[in-house]
Amino acid sequence: MQALTFLLIVYSGSALVGLSLLWFFYDGRDKCSFEANRRRKVFHCVRCGNLYSVRKGDVSTGEPCPECEYNNYELSF
Ligand SMILES: [Zn+2]
Repeated sequence: MQALTFLLIVYSGSALVGLSLLWFFYDGRDKCSFEANRRRKVFHCVRCGNLYSVRKGDVSTGEPCPECEYNNYELSF
């Protein structure tokens, strides 16, 4: 009876560890994809009115519009 209880505890514990590992893996993956979308920089072209975004880190020198190539600066809210 003792051995059966021990095996039951090991089985339940390993299932709990496995589910926790899956949870950490999928939570981290979702967080990475969310951060990648959240860090987009938004631009509004003052020449043609086009609204566009980029994923660059540093946009202090502006970013050219994909429609008319006019250099615009990041929108700040
Ligand atoms: Zn433009």
